Amino acid sequence: MRLILMGPPGAGKGTQAELLIEHFKIPHISTGDMFRAAIKDQTPLGLKAKEYMDSGALVPDEVTIGIVEDRLKKADCQKGFLLDGFPRTAAQADALTKILKTLNMTLNGVINIEMENEELLERLTGRRVCRQCASTYHTVFNSPQTPGVCDKCGGELYQRSDDTLATAQNRLQVYNDQTEPLIAYYEERNLLKRVQGDQEIKQVFSEILNVLE
Ligand SMILES: [Zn+2]
Repeated sequence: MRLILMGPPGAGKGTQAELLIEHFKIPHISTGDMFRAAIKDQTPLGLKAKEYMDSGALVPDEVTIGIVEDRLKKADCQKGFLLDGFPRTAAQADALTKILKTLNMTLNGVINIEMENEELLERLTGRRVCRQCASTYHTVFNSPQTPGVCDKCGGELYQRSDDTLATAQNRLQVYNDQTEPLIAYYEERNLLKRVQGDQEIKQVFSEILNVLE
């Protein structure tokens, strides 16, 4: 099973990725992990990527794509893979199509977990952290017994600055702008599988399995 998994921050993509790799026994290929492995193994592309990252520059597409290609050639990808965080742009998607062609592979589907912005904002801004013991809560999904007070130590709960409404709105905006062309790219190729993320974890997962059949 060869899959790409997409979804906005807050839609539960990480959880579904774990369920999918377990179910299909395929490797989870996330860009971050791939970069770390290439740098650790000191591959030529890994060293190049490190140069850019050390200087604070964005790693150019050709390097990223090369690292993905190296990873997909590894033996464990013969039985399939779950790509997560790549491709990010239509140009990267095009490069991936070419790589897969040379490897004689085709994608089974591109899963897009969808959710209303309003719901995502509620999820992204609900996190509260204890000032004393750093326990985390969520105003909707894991609320403390007394609002604003830590169950474990009685400490004050606060909202981290990267969980505020403005930050969350910005993250979603950036994600949507970036992903729109990608969604169009895979829609044109009849590979896009839309799944509603606003359900129980198990239901989302069974819907994913359904659309892949
Ligand atoms: Zn606490």
